[in-house]
Amino acid sequence: MSLRARLTVWYTAVLAGVLMLFSAAVYGLLSYSLVAQIDANLDKTSADILAASQQDMRTVTPPRIQLTGNVYVQVWGLDADDEPTLITTNLATIETPFDATTLTSRERVYSTILLEGARLRVLTVPVGVAGVDQVAGYLQLASSLDVVDRARSAMAILLMSGSGIGILIAALVGYFAAKTALKPIDRVTNTAVQITRADDLSKRIPLLAPPQSEVGQLILAFNETLERLEALFDAQRRFLADVSHELRTPLTTIRGNVDLMRRMNALDASSLDAITTESDRMTRLVQDLLLLAQAETGRLPMVKECFELDTLLLEVFQQAKVLSHGQVQVKLGDEDQVLVEGDRDRMKQVLLNLVANAIQYTPEGGSITLSLRSEGGEAVLAVSDTGKGIADEDLPRIFDRFYRADPARQSQEGVGAGLGLSIAYWITRLHGGTIDVESKIGEGSTFTVRLPQAMEETRPLTL
Ligand code: ADP
Repeated sequence: MSLRARLTVWYTAVLAGVLMLFSAAVYGLLSYSLVAQIDANLDKTSADILAASQQDMRTVTPPRIQLTGNVYVQVWGLDADDEPTLITTNLATIETPFDATTLTSRERVYSTILLEGARLRVLTVPVGVAGVDQVAGYLQLASSLDVVDRARSAMAILLMSGSGIGILIAALVGYFAAKTALKPIDRVTNTAVQITRADDLSKRIPLLAPPQSEVGQLILAFNETLERLEALFDAQRRFLADVSHELRTPLTTIRGNVDLMRRMNALDASSLDAITTESDRMTRLVQDLLLLAQAETGRLPMVKECFELDTLLLEVFQQAKVLSHGQVQVKLGDEDQVLVEGDRDRMKQVLLNLVANAIQYTPEGGSITLSLRSEGGEAVLAVSDTGKGIADEDLPRIFDRFYRADPARQSQEGVGAGLGLSIAYWITRLHGGTIDVESKIGEGSTFTVRLPQAMEETRPLTL
């Protein structure tokens, strides 16, 4: 069932329920008050009759029917066997009790009876004789319920037809209201279908409703999703272009050198070296890409063990001194003892990537400082350099795949493919940590890795 139909059905059903309850209440109240009026009339007439006879059975006389406002009166005495015998009545045609069942009661009692096809309301009043505390007879008064019944059936017809028409109108209005309210959703659907057909993610759904309305919110959310998808597809396209580009450069070099040797008809040592270097570069690139793909999908195999980050930092420090070839000074800053949990080799890869960058982007004579501090349950590793720094506009993007702040250098020998920081970012993230950078052009950069510290009890014993 469509949403429109469901809304209409619900709306109509609720309205029908409310109308039925309301009708029942009105009908009940009307019946009650009409019968109460008749009862009051019977009561008043009986009181008048009894007052006129001074409550004495022997002098009770029913007034003429014209004087009682259509109240029929019977006076019943009791014979020697306590059987009721009709003494007098103002409705001569009927000589049986209006209601025989109540002629034994010791209390005043109201009843409703059917007499010769007519519904009557009957009041039975026990009457005594002055000075004797005993029932000597009964005064029975009856009034036709015809008016009440007619009023009741008229009201029932009115309520039923009124409710029926009301429900019908409500259903129609509800249907059209739902149709109008849901129209923008149809338009959103149509636009979405058009976008899918045209395969054009740059299209957006025009804001067909106020932004705060439900439909407005839907459109905004949908547009946001489209924006995300577009960005994702763009990134994928760029990624493919980048990978092809990165692979083409070494392949061209390899091809060129092979052609050269073929023409020379001899093996050339420098050509073979170039082929080896380029195939190594390609292997590295493919390995890095695989690692990134695994890390991003959470499938990177990782050892989970506790290790001393301070010892790892010392190892990297020694390696950094070798890598720097003495061109930059490598220093060790704070070195707190910190335990972390994770994959030691992968963390070493992160630190080496940061150190390799620092060495690469710091001119001769500069310095690099490695430090490790324990801060509020976190291990804070920092690699800072006095190198060329990173421009503000590049900072938000340097952790992106293939991003290089200085594209002119991209094909240079020894310069990475722009994957090192992405790998560092993902490995840190998989360790539950974060990586940040602060940098100033011309002054240097500081990369900070924060990792959750492992519990002290798990620290392995060192002899
Ligand atoms: P690459 O392989 O090009 O070094 P990375 O992902 O490691 O790739 O780094 C991305 C870019 O960030 C680099 O191309 C460089 O422009 C910039 N960068 C990284 N580290 C530093 C640093 N210590 N100083 C200046 N720029 C840096």
